[in-house]
Amino acid sequence: MAAKKPDISEQLAKLQAKYEASLPDRLNNIDQLWQALITNEWNNENLQHLHREVHSITGSGANFGYTELSNEARAIEKILSVWEKTASVPQEEQRSAVHKQLSNLSTFTSKKYRKKFLPAVTSDKPTDSDHSLIYLLEEDKALACALQSQFSHFGYQVELFTTEHEIIKRLKQQMPDALVIDISLEDVHLTGSNLFQSLHKALAPNTPFVIYSSCSNFEARLAAVRAGASAYFVKPVDTDALVETLNKLTYRTPDQPYRIVIVDDDEVLTKHFSLVLTQAGMKVSIQENPEEALDTLIDINPDLLLMDIYMPNCTGIELAQIIRQQEEFIALPIVFLSTETSILKHFTALRTGGDDFLCKPIDDTHLIESVTFRAARARELKTQMTQDSLTRLLKHAKIKENLVIETSRAMRNNTTLSFVMIDIDHFKQVNDLYGHLTGDRVLKGLANIFRKRLRVADSIGRYGGEEFAIILPQCDTASAKKIVDKIRDDFSGIEFTNNNTKFKVSFSAGIACYPALKTPEKINQAADLALYQAKENGRNRTIISEKT
Ligand code: GH3
Ligand code: MG
Ligand code: MG
Repeated sequence: MAAKKPDISEQLAKLQAKYEASLPDRLNNIDQLWQALITNEWNNENLQHLHREVHSITGSGANFGYTELSNEARAIEKILSVWEKTASVPQEEQRSAVHKQLSNLSTFTSKKYRKKFLPAVTSDKPTDSDHSLIYLLEEDKALACALQSQFSHFGYQVELFTTEHEIIKRLKQQMPDALVIDISLEDVHLTGSNLFQSLHKALAPNTPFVIYSSCSNFEARLAAVRAGASAYFVKPVDTDALVETLNKLTYRTPDQPYRIVIVDDDEVLTKHFSLVLTQAGMKVSIQENPEEALDTLIDINPDLLLMDIYMPNCTGIELAQIIRQQEEFIALPIVFLSTETSILKHFTALRTGGDDFLCKPIDDTHLIESVTFRAARARELKTQMTQDSLTRLLKHAKIKENLVIETSRAMRNNTTLSFVMIDIDHFKQVNDLYGHLTGDRVLKGLANIFRKRLRVADSIGRYGGEEFAIILPQCDTASAKKIVDKIRDDFSGIEFTNNNTKFKVSFSAGIACYPALKTPEKINQAADLALYQAKENGRNRTIISEKT
């Protein structure tokens, strides 16, 4: 079961308190920098230092409820940047005006000016578990058991119910990921609608439910639609079509949280952004050191990078250029987060590899919306570029690229990695006997099993026609064999149907691993050879490469 979610609102409140507690020190520091500037010789370096500190208040204040403080700091910043550009000692009059503004900053840190803390939008995304839970309402015990067994091959956990009363009672205890019901809609008005009404009350609003029925008339279908059914099948049930629909309805990949990396040296503010985005369902990693940003990107493979412009040692704009020099990050959306409001600077940032600009302080809802929108688009584009349209698995080139990335990661982290090549047995016969479309359904079915059974960190690809490849990071060959054999066992137990003929299909697999083999090419060749041996030795088996 998924771990209990930490209470993020509580963490946000704590962070706000931490920020509040840091304000006297921050202002004190600003005061000292100012004193140094006016008492010692006026110099641009001290001025820049002061500017940076004021800048940090501009960018963070409003995020912790101190909007006026942010505004006031921004006004001071404007004057400081003019001084910085002209590089001349300002007039006494100007200095005393800024002096006044700086001493006045502390006024805006009082509670009176602090907006009440409002937690960001909460996410009501379901928590993930290993198996999707399906409730099946079916009076016919034999049919129920057959369906249960088929569903479980595809990684579903199925609970059977024979009466409406039982299922309603169970729904009150726990919501399933989807509901499948057999309903005789011969007389929709009598049986169907009553059941629908009670289901409607008991089901959580977004829980999909699928109906199959012996009735194919319009009235029955309409009743199902009105009851909010997600899909409708006519008996005899085409199990694999039903499973495919369930996969779509409970499909987890689009719900996989967006992965966001934030590169920013402001610890408290970054933590705040991170919590806000986490609460909205995203997975956030923070990197405060620009020099380590590339490693973080390789580790996380984010959907989007949020980056500050002003950082010590290396600016965000420079870092964006470095990132763009790496082929795998050419398409990564880079969004600059900065208090910089000058349009010209924005253009420079965009020209040098950034995709967008968000101005600090940015309100929580706006941050969530902007990031979600851009991450979603980026993921969609990436999907089109890298996914095979039939199976929605990675294309050949992408899985090979991932093998290179994962092998170097395994090398760096000193871990193991298994690579599995899979080929469906006698697939030509499936096409010859049942037609190409049925063949396609088998390919999709196997792809769905892989998706359900493997971890998010695993890469699954369609290597060629009926060949697949899987990368299992941090997994030795013995564990990989166990996983593959379980899938193989389940897959070969599935009964596919074509008209009224039932048939089963199996596959063979070859496994090779790092560190037994040191390069992606050698791993690939060894897995291929092991697969060949599996075919030679009679198919429907898994062989581990002996090559080292
Ligand atoms: P083996 O057990 O030795 O692997 O035998 P096989 O019949 O599976 O191997 P073979 O390489 O002779 O045939 C593969 C078949 O896969 C031939 C090709 O028509 C079919 N195929 C390739 N891509 C697709 C596809 O996208 N859809 C369908 N339906 N069939 C495909
Ligand atoms: Mg083949
Ligand atoms: Mg084959």
